Amino acid sequence: MKADLILLHPPSIFDFRERPILWGPINDLIPSTPVFEMYPIGFVSLASTLEEQGYRVRIVNLALRMLNSKSFDPERYIKKMRAEAFGIDLHWLPHVHGAVGVARLCKRLHEDVPVIMGGLSASYFHREILSSIPEVDYVLRGDSTELPMVQLMDAISRGGELSRIPNLSYREDSRIRENPLSYVPDNLDDFHLDYDYMFRSIIRTRSLDALPFYEFLERPIMAVLTRKGCESDCIACGGSAYAYARVCNRHRVAFRKPEMVVEDILKIQEFNSPAFILGDLAIGGESYGRRILELLRKERVDIPLVFEFFAPPPRGFIRELSRSVGDFTIEMSPESGDPEVRARIGRNYSNAELERMLRSAFEAGCRQFDLYFMIGLGGQTRESVDFTLELARRLVERYGGRLIPFISPYAPFLDPGSIAFENPEMHGFVRYASSLMDHYALLDEGLTWKDFLSYRTTHLSRDDIVNLSYDSALKLARIKAEAGLLSHEKLAEIEKGIAVSREMIQLVDRHRRRGTLGEEQVNESLYELRERLMIDRRELDWSQGLRVRWMLSIFAKFLRSFLPRL
Ligand code: SF4
Repeated sequence: MKADLILLHPPSIFDFRERPILWGPINDLIPSTPVFEMYPIGFVSLASTLEEQGYRVRIVNLALRMLNSKSFDPERYIKKMRAEAFGIDLHWLPHVHGAVGVARLCKRLHEDVPVIMGGLSASYFHREILSSIPEVDYVLRGDSTELPMVQLMDAISRGGELSRIPNLSYREDSRIRENPLSYVPDNLDDFHLDYDYMFRSIIRTRSLDALPFYEFLERPIMAVLTRKGCESDCIACGGSAYAYARVCNRHRVAFRKPEMVVEDILKIQEFNSPAFILGDLAIGGESYGRRILELLRKERVDIPLVFEFFAPPPRGFIRELSRSVGDFTIEMSPESGDPEVRARIGRNYSNAELERMLRSAFEAGCRQFDLYFMIGLGGQTRESVDFTLELARRLVERYGGRLIPFISPYAPFLDPGSIAFENPEMHGFVRYASSLMDHYALLDEGLTWKDFLSYRTTHLSRDDIVNLSYDSALKLARIKAEAGLLSHEKLAEIEKGIAVSREMIQLVDRHRRRGTLGEEQVNESLYELRERLMIDRRELDWSQGLRVRWMLSIFAKFLRSFLPRL
């Protein structure tokens, strides 16, 4: 494989195929498997921008390749690569083990090829990366590295002054140099997301290296970016205003023009895939969101659209949304049903406001409303979780099949750069890991998701978080089954999965105490528990009803690439 830049997406744990791991529910609510094989959207914008500048770029979803085939050998694969540079994402911290493993492998096999790391977590830990991982040569910091990456590639391929490249950290004579984090665009007008890139890449390379996640062909969903940064300050979020200012030097949210957002949606419509609109359209100046809705109304978009709201929007906004799009789902994370815990985490709205929003959403024809609750929040107790489950029961009884509540642990790590990470005690958290390599060690030495947790709260130990997660998932599954949202077979499956999972955690703890960990029995059972544990996967499938159209459009894309006149 030959390219100027090869962008490699690592698995969360590099040797996940060689050792037993009880992943637990840590990925239940995201499209990825626990290997977190979904690469960041920034990979596509990097590739699109560099290709415009004449560089050949390949995205290789190494995590997905490793997941898809046990016989796939990343070492042999990387050995055959010919590149001017390797880029590895360390955006989400749970990738730390895989990102370090892939960097080491690249450098061992291609000693002279520079290794670049980027992403929010890499930005936060850039100094530590350069001081403790000699295999990484450069870190590009910030939330917008497209142009700095072009300059870095120019410097790598033609020689050039590194000190002039914004956002770059590097070593020089064994000292770490940190260029100013000055490339922080005010808007996303130059952000180039080429939705065709992945399909072109598949055709050009005749491989599925660039597929974004495991179930993509079966349950497609494509993201639309409306902004970078956030105006809110949720305590545990690494994407908050506080974290963006600290890690990315971003002090104002950068918006994508409404016209461009709608263009992106229309592009996705060509694929007949549902689109997930990232960012609350009612925040950041209502006129911004209303303009997008107005444009959508004119275009008569007919794919399912998923909108996220961080708080109940102003009255009338949902009605306007329903007038603009036909098929819409809403996602919202009150985190806790207990308003005190919710306020403590930074979401300041009452249950009455939440219920008002639900009512107006369903009156306006919302197809599905997903509500997310979390375990392991500062100030949370068993009683407040019970209160949350009671709220969920009431809402499910009232709204039936269109309201889907989820509950899941806040795992595995506190987001670096978040308010909770920086001041844990003040917000009810106790942190077990501070440095990058502390987090690496948790994933390297741990066997179960309890071992991976980087924190506990002042009210809940790690064992409490685990037990409460299982108890509440079970209770919620039963609430859903009673309301007919979950089949009895699926409920039985969840009950069995949770029982075995609990047993495994106890078994691992017992073996660890006795120093007999590694027994065949433990290994075998852990391998069996890789499926999602606490939810019915179909609950998060927004592509239902579209699959045939989706497959046909992909097929047409392929045909078109071979028969240009079609
Ligand atoms: S969780 Fe809160 S701070 Fe983070 S992106 Fe959402 S609204 Fe912003």
